[in-house]
Amino acid sequence: MKKPTIVVLGAGYGGLMTVTRLQKALGQNEAEIVLVNKNDYHYETTWLHEASAGTLHHDRVRYPIKSVINSSKVKFIQDSVLEVKTEDKKVILENGEVSYDFLVVGLGPESETFGIQGLKEYAFSISNVNTARKIRDHIQLQFATYSSEVEKNEDRLTIVVGGAGFTGIEFLGELANRVPELCKEYDIDFQKVRMYCVEAAPAVLPGFDPELVDYAVSYLEKKGVEFKIGTPIKGATPEGIIVAKGEDEVEEIKAGTVVWAAGVRGSSVIEASGFEAMRGRIKVNLDMRAPGHDDIFIVGDCALIINEEINRPYPPTAQIAMQQGEVIAKNLTKLVRNESDLETFTFENKGTVCSLGDDNAIGVVFGKKVTGKTASFMKKMVDNRALLMIGGASLVAKKGKFNVL
Ligand code: FAD
Ligand code: NAD
Repeated sequence: MKKPTIVVLGAGYGGLMTVTRLQKALGQNEAEIVLVNKNDYHYETTWLHEASAGTLHHDRVRYPIKSVINSSKVKFIQDSVLEVKTEDKKVILENGEVSYDFLVVGLGPESETFGIQGLKEYAFSISNVNTARKIRDHIQLQFATYSSEVEKNEDRLTIVVGGAGFTGIEFLGELANRVPELCKEYDIDFQKVRMYCVEAAPAVLPGFDPELVDYAVSYLEKKGVEFKIGTPIKGATPEGIIVAKGEDEVEEIKAGTVVWAAGVRGSSVIEASGFEAMRGRIKVNLDMRAPGHDDIFIVGDCALIINEEINRPYPPTAQIAMQQGEVIAKNLTKLVRNESDLETFTFENKGTVCSLGDDNAIGVVFGKKVTGKTASFMKKMVDNRALLMIGGASLVAKKGKFNVL
């Protein structure tokens, strides 16, 4: 009998966790495993704020996919996924197609601009290695241009970050460390630089522990960040952003750099493939399969699971994507072996740590609040743990964060 083909789309946290667990669990004769990814490298999405600010080189946040897969068991295809044809059990790629018996979709997040005018054209997003490099280079170019131009345009030195969610705050933490370095490099007075955080909700990190939020805000304010909360962004222009001011009025904030960190959605491939979804996220069954598709699993930011305790979806995180990958690998192993007692997914919350730059952070870990160097140390351990889970100790040795203070 022909061995089944398992195709995994996306080599992010969810996809790689699934593949690395599958290659351990299944024998070479049991299944053919195919991994498809746009690039020949995996990037740590959770470190992209550092590459975007320029506090960590982009090569530090990525590693070759081939370094963590067993090529005698897994075939890697570098290509972009365009669409899943569920009725034909095949995936359309930019340069070909691939057929599956079982499919795992782990294509991750995309930036969500909610139809706000001008954002796609004039704002950056922290989405992948390419966008991170673009943000870093753009900010540096603004500083370099300012220092050399005769008629100084001070708006060049204004950086707006849209959204005070975890991505926005972590990026600002890095930026607050990077900007003084840029000022020194280009002989610019730090007082001329403006770093704005513009947040629609009435609070920074909406829903997070208020004491920890106060700690983060006062720390970032001391480092020069100005918060504009309760201020929804209404548009972006070549000159900056438009924000709502009160009920009917709007105000312009001129800026040389606008980074939109105010929302994510699941991959647009989900809708292109005709799945029923909410902003690219499929409400999965507890065994992680897409409803009505016994051969298709969804992992990571493309999956939506309701937290029954609060009746709201779990936030899309790497932590949950990796836990889902483990369950999916177990369930696929069972299906390949014709076992029917599939496992159900339950989220084991290990906590949340939000970095505020290389040397500070806030977090709640196993129910305990942490701040400062302790929290920063924990964040680095969380980052190293993701490497360990996917690539083992050798990957931690190559890519891990050891600059513990
Ligand atoms: P990803 O890990 O993003 O991987 C998706 C993969 O699919 C990528 O390799 C991509 O190249 C590939 N891909 C996408 N489209 C295609 C296509 N069409 N064809 C082929 N390949 C494709 N979560 C936490 O738990 N802790 C944190 O500290 C944390 N920090 C974060 C910091 C930042 C700056 C950001 C932006 C997010 C952070 N998150 C964090 C959220 C976390 O990164 C995501 O929830 C997680 O990456 C989702 O994992 P995934 O496997 O679904 O997608
Ligand atoms: P988010 O959706 O969590 O936060 C977006 C923020 O933007 C919200 O505070 C929202 O009120 C605000 N916003 C929305 N529209 C706006 C507008 N028009 N103008 C101004 N503000 C607006 O998005 P995120 O921060 O990118 O996080 C995405 C996911 O990644 C989340 O699940 C998050 O938990 C996770 N993440 C986790 C960490 C961590 O654990 N350290 C770090 C980064 C991201």
